[in-house]
Amino acid sequence: HKKAIIIGAGVAGLASAIRLAVQGFAVEVYEKNSYPGGKLSHFEANGFKFDAGPSLFTQPQNIEALFALAGEPIADYFNYQSLPVSCKYFYSDGTVVNAYTNTNAFANELENKLGEDGKKLTSYLKQSEKVYNNIGSIFLNHSLHKRKTLFKAPIRKALATAKSKYLFKTLHHINEAAFTKTHTVQLFNRYATYNGSSPYLAPGMLSLIPHLEHNEGTFYPKGGMISITNALYQLALKKNVVFHFNTPVTSIIHHEDKVRGVVANNDNHYAEIVVSNMDAYFTYNHLLKDYRKANKILKQERSSSALIFYWGINASFPALELHNIFFTKDYKAEFDSLFKLKNLYYDPTIYINITSKCEPGFQAPEGKENWFVMINVPANVGQNWQSFTQRYREIIIAKLSAALGKDIASLIEVEEVLDPITIESKTASYMGSLYGTSSNSKFAAFLRHPNFTNAIKGLYFVGGSVHPGGGIPLCLQSAKIMSDIVVDDMKKKKKAH
Ligand code: FAD
Repeated sequence: HKKAIIIGAGVAGLASAIRLAVQGFAVEVYEKNSYPGGKLSHFEANGFKFDAGPSLFTQPQNIEALFALAGEPIADYFNYQSLPVSCKYFYSDGTVVNAYTNTNAFANELENKLGEDGKKLTSYLKQSEKVYNNIGSIFLNHSLHKRKTLFKAPIRKALATAKSKYLFKTLHHINEAAFTKTHTVQLFNRYATYNGSSPYLAPGMLSLIPHLEHNEGTFYPKGGMISITNALYQLALKKNVVFHFNTPVTSIIHHEDKVRGVVANNDNHYAEIVVSNMDAYFTYNHLLKDYRKANKILKQERSSSALIFYWGINASFPALELHNIFFTKDYKAEFDSLFKLKNLYYDPTIYINITSKCEPGFQAPEGKENWFVMINVPANVGQNWQSFTQRYREIIIAKLSAALGKDIASLIEVEEVLDPITIESKTASYMGSLYGTSSNSKFAAFLRHPNFTNAIKGLYFVGGSVHPGGGIPLCLQSAKIMSDIVVDDMKKKKKAH
């Protein structure tokens, strides 16, 4: 058996392990933590279960594809349900909007609550689907750094279309032109945060994201988001992948332009190919000591980070859904603060995720709720997070107590906090960024590190900090693109012999 080593058991590392095992590699995964999943992990406290990181689940077909590939029945490992409401929005003026996943219901809601012409929603979602099918799916399925990709006719056509307004106008411009009400624009501007960017800077291309949520659907995995990690981990074990936990890789061994293996536990471990699921900046800086390349990666702006309060709440709130947003009054000022001033905004948009809404009595004790309360914050550049945490805890509690008409502080019976520094230390994500690099540039899609490097043959890259980008669906796609490149490279190698 040819051997493959994977550095990191994040969601992309797990998917890579499965794909390479199916290709016939003997796969070993080295993970510095004691558990798999990286950002996609969880913890429990006093009967409250918390998904630590991601909470939004779309495109389950990416997970289904892995089970189909491995020839295992997904239902034995993983189940999920579709959701009638993708998110409930609370505006600062008291308006409340349910974003129904059924387009007609959502259009009616926008007409009734905001006075927005429902037809505008229908045509927006149609356009969103078009952008996804014409441009997005190419970007998500191929390396943008292989000549073979760039010369395919449909891809040339797609790149030509991409040049138009979806690349040169911002998401905010696109949304402002599509809708008449500022509340609707704010709702659709929020999609820029799905990869840690600002709608006032990121390209209109991101308007393809609502297609995924509203045309394809928003889902909830039974058991919470951690079920994704558990299912992929079990599938990898089934495919004979070997895991070494508590085992950080300290360097990548290469001889001239060929990878040879890795160093972990002061031992050399040899392999034909090495896949880094670690942040690309750290891979170059720590494992390859290639500081020039590492600094080049730093030229790309990092995505935003998060400040999260995990609260066990001793009450239940029928007004809340699984996903809830309490908007700031001034979205532009909030994003300027995050990305220009690298500061927090005094009136932050608050996201609350409550999985006990889907599984009451299981995710939280009967009659109680597990709140994952998150605000977007800048990536860590040395701000004083301890003082931010204290201050923003008060701000968040005051805002939510006013909006929900109940004193929240007295209901918190369990509390944990995650800030950009702990995000970095737990998952080795440079500056605590959630999604690797941001999309705050027209060219961001083309500037992410490729899934391979010509400088060291046999070394590949997957995960949120490389192409196609952050978020679970994209990370899973990075594993697919990498695995396709490996197939090609192995063929070339065979031919050469
Ligand atoms: P990571 O999860 O970054 O894991 C990398 C792994 O590599 C880690 O386990 C780390 O310990 C390991 N590692 C690092 N260095 C070494 C080394 N030297 N040796 C061995 N192992 C090493 N995405 C969504 O789709 N929806 C969401 O709602 C969402 N919300 C988010 C909220 C938060 C708070 C966070 C933090 C992220 C969120 N994301 C969301 C983003 C999503 O979690 C990530 O894009 C994705 O999980 C990253 O996966 P990854 O494969 O890149 O690896």
